[in-house]
Amino acid sequence: MSDNCLFCKIIKGAVPSDKLYEDDDVFVFRDIAPQAPVHFLVIPKKHVKGPGAVEAGDERLMGKLIRVADQVARQEGISQYRLVFNNGEKAGQTVFHIHMHVLGGRSLTWPPG
Ligand code: AMP
Repeated sequence: MSDNCLFCKIIKGAVPSDKLYEDDDVFVFRDIAPQAPVHFLVIPKKHVKGPGAVEAGDERLMGKLIRVADQVARQEGISQYRLVFNNGEKAGQTVFHIHMHVLGGRSLTWPPG
């Protein structure tokens, strides 16, 4: 946990969220500014700043994010979706607690802007 981290506050319940799933390791909630009909964020409870800060011992946890993303996507009624991690400001990262965007419910173009 990091005191000044928005997503750590969401995990603790200090900031409200539209929670879709939670277990001992992972927290899932709807993005506040959805970019697709289905858009939610999958985060580890462990505070990791971003993909570039993932450590050797985190591999299992990072893999779990994908499995939970698929489970929640299916709960939301979709089996086709895009997973996105932004790493650093130039890549569009605005919250520095690692998060996987799950986007779906419409056709998505490639490449992204
Ligand atoms: P990124 O730009 O990759 O760092 O993604 C951060 C995401 O967090 C954005 O898509 C925001 O819309 C989303 N976000 C910011 N604040 C909140 C919040 N309080 N609840 C839910 N999603 C949020």
